[in-house]
Amino acid sequence: MVNAVYPGTFDPITNGHIDLLARASKLFEHVTLAVAYNTNKHPLFELHERVSMATKALSHLPNISVVGFDNLLVDFAHTQQASVILRGLRAVSDFEYEFQLAGMNRNLASDIETVFLTPAEQYAYLSSSLVKEVARLGGDVTKFVPEQVIAEINKKLG
Ligand code: ADP
Repeated sequence: MVNAVYPGTFDPITNGHIDLLARASKLFEHVTLAVAYNTNKHPLFELHERVSMATKALSHLPNISVVGFDNLLVDFAHTQQASVILRGLRAVSDFEYEFQLAGMNRNLASDIETVFLTPAEQYAYLSSSLVKEVARLGGDVTKFVPEQVIAEINKKLG
């Protein structure tokens, strides 16, 4: 029985994240989507808004739960009885940062392995920050995020 945590800012959750989670839900007993408080990134959405959007978007996947956290990731993973940290790899450009992060987390907790999954190719260029930028400039983001997220983005950006 292997549990995983999938950490990120999820500001907001996109169809790329959901694609990855659908794959992970078949591989792991349970996956906790761990929404980081993360003030460094100056998120558009409050933590509770990001948690609520993700919870609604993932209600069709039974073995996934959504939890906010603001402590050290490996400590949080231990509280979830998770031995895997799941991360997504889109392009080579993700690799260097992810490699560094995985190395640091292995140093901090040798009992936790980082596992990478890749999304379906139509999501390989998708990021939360691009979605926000396109929406801010009036572009159509319906292909990239769930319907209820579009409503939240529109509310936030007026
Ligand atoms: P972070 O702030 O940690 O980069 P994000 O919310 O941007 O968090 O992303 C969380 C994780 O999901 C990261 O591992 C990221 O590489 C991955 N990810 C983001 N967008 C996609 C996508 N379109 N397809 C697959 N993985 C993705």
